[in-house]
Amino acid sequence: MTEKRQFIAGATCPECGKLDKIQRVQDGERLWMTCIACGMVRDLDQQPAADSGTPVTIMPATPRNDGH
Ligand SMILES: [Zn+2]
Repeated sequence: MTEKRQFIAGATCPECGKLDKIQRVQDGERLWMTCIACGMVRDLDQQPAADSGTPVTIMPATPRNDGH
């Protein structure tokens, strides 16, 4: 089985209250999060993930410098 683990930056564990210990784990279609500090496991399949990842489009400002 291949698990994808990713730390959730800024996430606080609801069990032990430690910061940056929450890992988001995805294994195929299953998705859950776990705390590496206390071992808390919470299923993320049921609730929609509050994803704050808003797509950011970076428009490079190209200055018009027509040096004649
Ligand atoms: Zn914890």
